[in-house]
Amino acid sequence: MAECVPNRKLIAELMEKEEKRLEQETPKSYELYQRASKHMPMGVASTYHARDPYPVYFTHGRGPHIWSVEGREIVDFHNGYGCMVQGHAHPLIVEAIQKRAPLGTQFGLPTEDAIIMAEHLAGAFKLPQWRFVNSGSEATMDAIRVARAFTGRETIVKMFGSYHGHHDYVMVSIGALDYGRIGPRDDYASLPYGGGIPQSSIDLTVPVPFNDIENMTRRIERMVEEGNPPACVIMEPAMMNLGVVLPEPGFLEDVRALTKKHGIVLIFDEVKVGICTARGGAAERWGVVPDMVTLGKAIAGGTPCGAIGGTEEIMAKVNDGTVFQVGTYSGNPLSMAAARASFEQVMTDEAYAHLNALNDRIIAKCDAVCQKYDFPGYTVGISSKGCVNFALGKITDYESFIKEQDADLVALAWLYNINRGLIIAPGREEEWTLSVTHTDADVDLFVGAFEDLVRDVTA
Ligand code: PMP
Repeated sequence: MAECVPNRKLIAELMEKEEKRLEQETPKSYELYQRASKHMPMGVASTYHARDPYPVYFTHGRGPHIWSVEGREIVDFHNGYGCMVQGHAHPLIVEAIQKRAPLGTQFGLPTEDAIIMAEHLAGAFKLPQWRFVNSGSEATMDAIRVARAFTGRETIVKMFGSYHGHHDYVMVSIGALDYGRIGPRDDYASLPYGGGIPQSSIDLTVPVPFNDIENMTRRIERMVEEGNPPACVIMEPAMMNLGVVLPEPGFLEDVRALTKKHGIVLIFDEVKVGICTARGGAAERWGVVPDMVTLGKAIAGGTPCGAIGGTEEIMAKVNDGTVFQVGTYSGNPLSMAAARASFEQVMTDEAYAHLNALNDRIIAKCDAVCQKYDFPGYTVGISSKGCVNFALGKITDYESFIKEQDADLVALAWLYNINRGLIIAPGREEEWTLSVTHTDADVDLFVGAFEDLVRDVTA
């Protein structure tokens, strides 16, 4: 086991040095930030694009690379929070979009590509009925509504620390904002994630710990006894908003059995897991089929798209008109064309084999660096997704994540990467996403930057 505990003073000094270096290399981004801030809060379109003291702005991407406004070529391990597992501007996806655009991009009327995508997803995810939306948030919002209509119940259960999008139902008990108030493990608190969330919504969302079936069973059975059984359990089959936290053996099967026993709709939110880790998501990877699946991000090669899959019985609530599952842009032809090209031509068996081999390489090499320097870190990964946990103990849920993970090192790692020509998604919750266009050399660049970091913090 690693002995070398990083020195805080050294980390602070390195942070200052790397931040200065980044500032020197990004003058144009700073100019853009000043201009942007006049008309956009934080100078960005989404708070997730923001960065303190200012973000780096980008112009374009191709394959595994993106270019900053300063003209720096950067190897992309961020990949749009996992949307771009196909790599940027993949020729087959570009061709599909170019063929579709002159034929019209939006009718508010049905087209055949959506039918074909529903057929593909039904086969891959083993759920027969599908609807399309424009984002992961829309997918989880509508799936929860369908689950509520199906069960006639209002309360929902989620894992503490999980992110399922930015609507009121699920902006509860996500991050460290209120860690001091998380409460006892058997009775985690429902905490708003930011302002503007009505108390009535917060009260309807009950958090439990991931990977702890005894705890989840007790909490749900208490809810049943109190006459307040949940409509659904919404969860990522592998948590991908705490780095990557894999399900312990048997956990998903146990959740499946528990939810079935109490007539609770099990929703696997596979906005990050689906497509990026297997074409058929958790059903393919872990052999557990939920009642509903939500997809987003990588499904349509970087065009806005989400999807909701469900059983015949549950989706009958949409089919019979009980639930208005709607949206002007739902199944829009541009996203459907991109999704088809991705599913049929890009995310092939060979593509997944390539991603798996790349991930094996990055994991083995980062682990070797940790061992070489006796450094407190270890890797977790599946297919295109993975992370180095800057931690001594194993991270299995939100509590162990907060206790074990060294947030300062995560922040420093981001600076080391960008200053050495690569980028990962910012924030301690994030992980890398490899793309089918990455090569062994790209992975080795990542490992080189990681070794620089580990060598410097253990000096
Ligand atoms: N569910 C999960 C698991 C996610 O990771 C995200 C986005 N990070 C969402 C839902 C929301 O997706 P979107 O940002 O497209 O609304």
